[in-house]
Amino acid sequence: MVHKGAAHNVRLVQGSHIVVAKKFDDPRAYFFQNRDGRIIFAIPYEQDFTLIGTTDRDFDGDLSDVRISPEEIAYLCANASEYFAEPVRPEDVVWAYSAVRPLFDDGASKAQEATRDYVLREDAPAGKAPLVNSFGGKITTYRRLAESMLEKIEAVLGRRGPAWTADAPLPGGDFGVHGFEAELGALRATYPFLDEGLAYRLVRLYGTRARKLLGPAKSVADLGRDFGAGLHEAEVRYLMENEWAMTAEDVLWRRTKRGLHIGKDEAAALEAYMSGLRDSTAAGVGEAGRRAG
Ligand SMILES: Cc1cc2nc3c(=O)[nH]c(=O)nc-3n(C[C@H](O)[C@H](O)[C@H](O)COP(=O)(O)OP(=O)(O)OC[C@H]3O[C@@H](n4cnc5c(N)ncnc54)[C@H](O)[C@@H]3O)c2cc1C
Repeated sequence: MVHKGAAHNVRLVQGSHIVVAKKFDDPRAYFFQNRDGRIIFAIPYEQDFTLIGTTDRDFDGDLSDVRISPEEIAYLCANASEYFAEPVRPEDVVWAYSAVRPLFDDGASKAQEATRDYVLREDAPAGKAPLVNSFGGKITTYRRLAESMLEKIEAVLGRRGPAWTADAPLPGGDFGVHGFEAELGALRATYPFLDEGLAYRLVRLYGTRARKLLGPAKSVADLGRDFGAGLHEAEVRYLMENEWAMTAEDVLWRRTKRGLHIGKDEAAALEAYMSGLRDSTAAGVGEAGRRAG
């Protein structure tokens, strides 16, 4: 809930990205300086692709239908083309995604100059329950934001305990910063039937939780049907049971990006499979129903 007076504090700024076939082989990310003073980046993406982004422009459209515009595609292509040996053309774009940043409106004249910091604003009318609104924010600072928010809440409700998030690993991230290769090797030792590409993808996406996903599997066949590009039933079930995936789109685009690697028919088969599991869960029958129960 936002008290009425707070709504004007938000500045909506759209940011869009394009994905094209791999433009370079090395694993580095590149930042390009544009002629307009902005920067954009090109990052290796999902093994076979390059991600190029982002744009920054004020958004006043329909928030339920945010998508990249032809102008943004042209902007990213033109600026990236200044740096690559081969140009990036709009027809090279295989996928794009776009979202709107709800930034704190600090009165900056240009969208790209609006602050990316979060701003907490207390709204404590006399005699009424206080409300703290959070504006803006980034994934990189969400823990700091959460702790700042708790400090505000504790001012009213009393201190509940010390801050603890700084060193707490995220789910599946409970191995050292330089421990990826060791974790990958350990997973392959436990599950020798995994090919290198699949093992790498699973550790990258799920970390130590890949073991939960693979469970007692002793062969690839134990992972169930492959819907394409190494997306097996075991992974789909894991995402439905642990990461709230409901639809094929959730799995293919929001959780795994396997959508870049598989075709329409495979996506339709996945949707049919998930819909069957959803139905049996809803009816409380079948294996999925028992698990959900
Ligand atoms: C273009 C763009 C680029 C960005 N770049 C960066 C970056 O480089 N680095 C960085 O650190 N951060 C970046 N951010 C910011 C970062 O994405 C956000 O700070 C972060 O996603 C906020 O996380 P959240 O979980 O609080 O909210 P969200 O990720 O917005 O999640 C909120 C969820 O709640 C759901 N929801 C909303 N209303 C309801 C409802 N009524 N019922 C049920 N569900 C609901 C939404 O569908 C959504 O899934 C970027 C944001 C954008 C838009």
